[in-house]
Amino acid sequence: MLSVQQAEQIILTSIQPLDPQRNTEIVYLLAASGRILAQEITSQLDFPHWDNSAMDGYAVRHADVAESNAENPATLEIIEEIPAGKAPQKTIQPGQAARIFTGAMMPAGADTVVMQEVTQRSGNSVTILNAPAPQSFVRHKGSFSPAGTPLLSPGISIGATEIAVLASAQCTQIPVYRRPVVAILSTGDELVTPDRPLKPGQLVDSNQYALATLVRQTGAIPQMLGIIPDDPQQLQNAISQALEFADMVISSGGVSVGEYDFVDQILSSLGGEIQIRAIAVKPGKPLTFATFSSSSRQAPIIYFGLPGNPVSSLVTFWRFVQPAIKKLSGISDFWQPMFVQAKTQHSLKSDGKRESYFWGKLHLVNGEYEFTLAGGSQSSGNLINLAQTNGLAVLPVGKTLINARDLVQVLQVR
Ligand code: AMP
Ligand code: MG
Repeated sequence: MLSVQQAEQIILTSIQPLDPQRNTEIVYLLAASGRILAQEITSQLDFPHWDNSAMDGYAVRHADVAESNAENPATLEIIEEIPAGKAPQKTIQPGQAARIFTGAMMPAGADTVVMQEVTQRSGNSVTILNAPAPQSFVRHKGSFSPAGTPLLSPGISIGATEIAVLASAQCTQIPVYRRPVVAILSTGDELVTPDRPLKPGQLVDSNQYALATLVRQTGAIPQMLGIIPDDPQQLQNAISQALEFADMVISSGGVSVGEYDFVDQILSSLGGEIQIRAIAVKPGKPLTFATFSSSSRQAPIIYFGLPGNPVSSLVTFWRFVQPAIKKLSGISDFWQPMFVQAKTQHSLKSDGKRESYFWGKLHLVNGEYEFTLAGGSQSSGNLINLAQTNGLAVLPVGKTLINARDLVQVLQVR
């Protein structure tokens, strides 16, 4: 059986990000939020676009005010008022100043802004009570970023700050990676949709909805294929249909060693290369990972056969599938799982044979993380106490106990 780290390595090296030459689309600025940028963005604009004032005050020639102080102030003639958005009309000559406001363009001749708090205004003249440093409160053209400099790199996730940069660069048609398409199916004769009355022995297919939610949150498009009975032919039909259109297929259930667990044999018969059958992880041991190469596609289609138990399927999604979807989606960084160190409020016990994941809540207390184990059963069949989970505490192989108040690694999830 593979260790978690070996499995992670196999999965992540099998996954190639979408090819930006063939897998991009153009979206309007606001629709780019949450998408992955596919091309470098440069601008022919300087930032700032022109020398401008960082203060409300007076634009002056530094030489005129270099010696001024409260006893010996400099008095200048105000020749123009320049609000933000107006182009100055005049050149500042010796002995002159312009009234200027934050963000307004500097007039020719002036090189320094004196903030209004150290001045006295009287009609058309202004008295400067302090000598400012040369160039003070002037934001110089191109000083934040000169024209032609790359502003945003491909592979970044676009959020509010990137939208602001794109808008400022007057870039409204944004090249982004297309979202990967992830087909999801549930296997099991016992499963019914949530709107059906339950007959004895039946169970609602919760996995499909939870997985579709996580797939969407991870930035991909979920395609729900429904419940497939434990019938090899129907399962084969569903999987081969999914392989026609999806970048990735996720099934839950049917990967264990029972008589009704058909997924692995079907994957092999459809030409899949099974790379993982089980991982030393608890919950989630039976997990199938396979790749399908086809001549009509450049990248292999990825198959995850997750275990059916609701907690197992979610834990294995968070630990293995989510980073895989992120890497596939073209994001160049931050696709690795995020672990933080936290103080556990409860003791955590394991037999030490598999890497064990415990679900619960991560909080910040006085700037330090604490982990609270979810109350109730930590059985992999119990999904009820999974609600509000945002962390999975991890006991590595060989570790049988972490005492309350000791530190534990916690995988951040949501
Ligand atoms: P399996 O891996 O198919 O043996 O399923 C393991 C357990 O998970 C069984 O108790 C199933 O009833 C349950 N299970 C399987 N699929 C789902 C599903 N889609 N939603 C909720 N529970 C499931
Ligand atoms: Mg089953």
